[in-house]
Amino acid sequence: MATVMQAYRFALDPTAAQRRALASHCGAARVAHNWALELVKTRLDQRRAGENVNVPWTLPELRREWNRTKQQVAPWWAENSKEAYSSGLDGLARALKNWTDSRNGHRKGPLVRFPHKKRKGRSRDACRFTTGAIKVLDDRRHIQLPRIGILKTQESTRKLARRLEHGTARILAATIARTADRWFVSFTVEVERAIPASNGHHTVIGVDVGIRHLATLSTGAAISNPRALEHSLRKLRRLNRQLARRRVGSKRRRTTKQRVARVHARAANLRRDALHKLTTSLATRHGTVVIEHLNMAGMVRNHHLARALSDIGAGELRRQLAYKPLWYGSRLLVADRFYPSSKTCSTCGWVKAKLTLAERIFRCEECGIRIDRDLNAARNLTALAQHVAQSGWETRNARGADRRTQPAGQVATKREAGTERRSSKTGTAAPQGTAAWTMEHSF
Ligand SMILES: [Zn+2]
Repeated sequence: MATVMQAYRFALDPTAAQRRALASHCGAARVAHNWALELVKTRLDQRRAGENVNVPWTLPELRREWNRTKQQVAPWWAENSKEAYSSGLDGLARALKNWTDSRNGHRKGPLVRFPHKKRKGRSRDACRFTTGAIKVLDDRRHIQLPRIGILKTQESTRKLARRLEHGTARILAATIARTADRWFVSFTVEVERAIPASNGHHTVIGVDVGIRHLATLSTGAAISNPRALEHSLRKLRRLNRQLARRRVGSKRRRTTKQRVARVHARAANLRRDALHKLTTSLATRHGTVVIEHLNMAGMVRNHHLARALSDIGAGELRRQLAYKPLWYGSRLLVADRFYPSSKTCSTCGWVKAKLTLAERIFRCEECGIRIDRDLNAARNLTALAQHVAQSGWETRNARGADRRTQPAGQVATKREAGTERRSSKTGTAAPQGTAAWTMEHSF
């Protein structure tokens, strides 16, 4: 048994009054965040001017300042749970720490910018509860949050409720958040799981996420998108073309934008569900699952629709595979970020200089083969994994060899750009002269 952190997310079905309460809590978090950010900036300026002032930097310090001033800043503070303000201050404290760590070289990835003001309608509406009455009710259709009270969920909470009843789970926090016009609650849960050493399979499977298909496997199988997702994607393309025609600043543009956000959120949900089915199946039926490295930081800034959608899918696959192999006794291999799995010919090893996203067929100029782009990529991933296995590297990292790397890597949802935990061991296998491997979990 091992304790792992897991997130359970449910769509909510709030009443009109509850919608206002949810929005009010997120607004309260934003107000506290922005007020504290201004305070920090003012104090920093004062200090620069030579004054001897204390600059609040941690959550306890920020909270103390807030409690001292809240009556003047937000005389309505009692309308919301104190957790709302704490949530906003906590977000700021984390952002400040990230900024300091980044400047001092204690944080990987691109330099973190100084925290920004959160703007209504622009920043994500979210609020986190860590204390008070946070419950999943016995009827499996309702949850309870401090101050907001009992909320109906759109789906059954059975999976989490069952664990809570059996005493194998403990809720640590609940976060409410809005996506398009829907509200969600996400529970951060400490779960006791039996972790199998192996699932008994020794096969290696490569996966490549796409847009036309949900995913392509190295076996040649293409997992198609569920129909509902196909439908959403078509609608999304149409709406995006429509959006491009709307005049900037016009009312109709705003309406179209809202519709795009809604359809986008739905597509993301459908894809996530479909990927959950796929990743569970992969992790239970294969010894090793191989995926490409993802440049998380570079992804977010991409505005090309097709690219953005494909990135979302790949990011979600990556997130799920960060913990599922561990749960089911298989393992995950992630190709080095410089390994050109899409550009390399899976038959002869020739590397194409440039491959645009529009090129669906890989044409090899060396051996002349024509092969589906995604299948080519998936095959390359598998070939590399097999090479790594043959080189003896796999036996050195035999299952069960390195158990201590387990728990921390579980909170896949919390991972941020550039901070992925690197491997405990890195093998350098270079068939075709390129790849270095990173092992995500050794077990
Ligand atoms: Zn070739």
